[in-house]
Amino acid sequence: MLYFIIVTRVCNLRCKYCGNDPDPSVEPLEINYSLDDLKRFIEKDSDAIICFYGGEPLLRVNIIKWIIDNIKAKKFCIQTNGLFLDRLELEYLEKFDTILVSIDGRKEVTDYYRGTGTYDLVIKNIRKIRRKGYDGDIIARMAVSEKTDIYSDVKHLIELKNPNFDHVHWQLDALWDLPPKQRYKDFDLWVDTIYNAGITKLVNYWYEKMEQEGKVLGIVPFIGIMKTLLTGEKVYLRCGAGIDAFTITTSGRIIACPVALEFDEFYLGDIWTTEPYELPWKIKIGGPCLRCEYNFICGGRCLFANKTMLWGIEGFEKVCETVKHLINELIRIKPRVQDLIDKGIISIDDFNYPPYNNSTEIIP
Ligand code: SF4
Ligand code: SF4
Repeated sequence: MLYFIIVTRVCNLRCKYCGNDPDPSVEPLEINYSLDDLKRFIEKDSDAIICFYGGEPLLRVNIIKWIIDNIKAKKFCIQTNGLFLDRLELEYLEKFDTILVSIDGRKEVTDYYRGTGTYDLVIKNIRKIRRKGYDGDIIARMAVSEKTDIYSDVKHLIELKNPNFDHVHWQLDALWDLPPKQRYKDFDLWVDTIYNAGITKLVNYWYEKMEQEGKVLGIVPFIGIMKTLLTGEKVYLRCGAGIDAFTITTSGRIIACPVALEFDEFYLGDIWTTEPYELPWKIKIGGPCLRCEYNFICGGRCLFANKTMLWGIEGFEKVCETVKHLINELIRIKPRVQDLIDKGIISIDDFNYPPYNNSTEIIP
């Protein structure tokens, strides 16, 4: 199972979607349990995958190194803002199967949301770790909001050469804040006129690259959903929250989703009194997703959004329109993708991603 370890709640940036204002009365700002206790808990799971999470996890690089050196896990990955990636020596970098770096697309969009100069620093650090010899999976992890042009920003990242990103993934800046829609002048209009239209254009571009160059570009939501369409596999909440993905907070509590620190219904146990095998399926997607005709492809999108309904049912349904549009656009090109596979121009194996839960949620 995948364990997000919140290494610290402190971050060195102050991105517009987050504000970087962690409340110490909810959870301590720093880990206050013994790492030996963490080791005892995680090693009970012989299939453990560890994802370092924050705050900004690389602010506490010694904790990360201790965990890598001392806790047995099948894989390690990290979600980082990328600004301290150069603090890790190659021997530690190489332990990461996947590095997810926050970057929102073009320089002007990234710097607007994450702070002036962020884009250049992130790019410089990724170049540095590639030069050091890191050849694992680097995922550009975007937050997509009103200033994003999804077509231009994804295309920019996936086409970068120095450094290159193996994959691009994004999450909508939606349903996680209260009061709702703070960063949009008109969220519904943005969805209808900008975001969904951009997705259509991006799907066309993705297909053209397959057809003309025999390349399946690493656009994670497209690959993940197309695989489901091609294989008919059964899916359930693709991020795995509460199923095969759990978060260990700074106090040693275990919750179903890393952004749900303040919500008691996500609490599942702690590293001292709970066994890993007791965690799965205690909290499940409910409500509108159970009645949705897209559930067998979407899987429920996000447990946090499904349970908290922070934007109310109308806001939730507006976001579902983006999911349905994305799925419909991929259904539209599916016969032609199948044709390219049949002709041997691309392979069904090109859609075998992620090979395990590497913390990309698939559905934006
Ligand atoms: S489209 Fe919306 S309602 Fe349907 S399964 Fe996905 S999140 Fe749930
Ligand atoms: S998609 Fe939602 S439930 Fe899943 S990990 Fe992300 S915030 Fe949590």
